[in-house]
Amino acid sequence: MSILKIRTIGDPILTKIAKPVEEINDFILKLATEMIDTMIAGDGIGLAAPQVGYSIRMLAIDLSLIEKDALPMVYINPEITKTEGECEMEEGCLSVPEVFANVKRPEKITFAYTDLDWKKHSVFADGYLARVLQHEIDHLNGHLFVEQLDKTEKSKISKKLKKIKPDGWTPKSK
Ligand SMILES: [Zn+2]
Repeated sequence: MSILKIRTIGDPILTKIAKPVEEINDFILKLATEMIDTMIAGDGIGLAAPQVGYSIRMLAIDLSLIEKDALPMVYINPEITKTEGECEMEEGCLSVPEVFANVKRPEKITFAYTDLDWKKHSVFADGYLARVLQHEIDHLNGHLFVEQLDKTEKSKISKKLKKIKPDGWTPKSK
């Protein structure tokens, strides 16, 4: 098992627009496994490739901490094609350790992605999956959840935010 270093807020890679994945090869398959291992070791429910130092459009999501029977999934080149409604939920991020805040986002989404067999899918999502996907796709576009908070939420986290060092951290393997 190899656990990758997680980049933290202040690292310039987190502000870049990630490039599309052009094919599935050994590098992508290895990275998919490493991203899943890193996310699980860090007690995360989602991880985007830029968070581990690769500016490419690829995500890992594992909702098993919230929903029983959920399996880790990898989404390549994910794209939201439709949004509906709005809701507020508390979010956190492995790149912004120990900071949690309420974020408003669309409640339901339709999204397209490619899987590790290079097959395309279009899927509807609501609940946690919709939430985590939107958070992770923001990473691929160079954005962090703390950028879009309202004033009250921003002031609640400002002290903690200033304490985060931009050198990253590596979760311990379990
Ligand atoms: Zn995040």
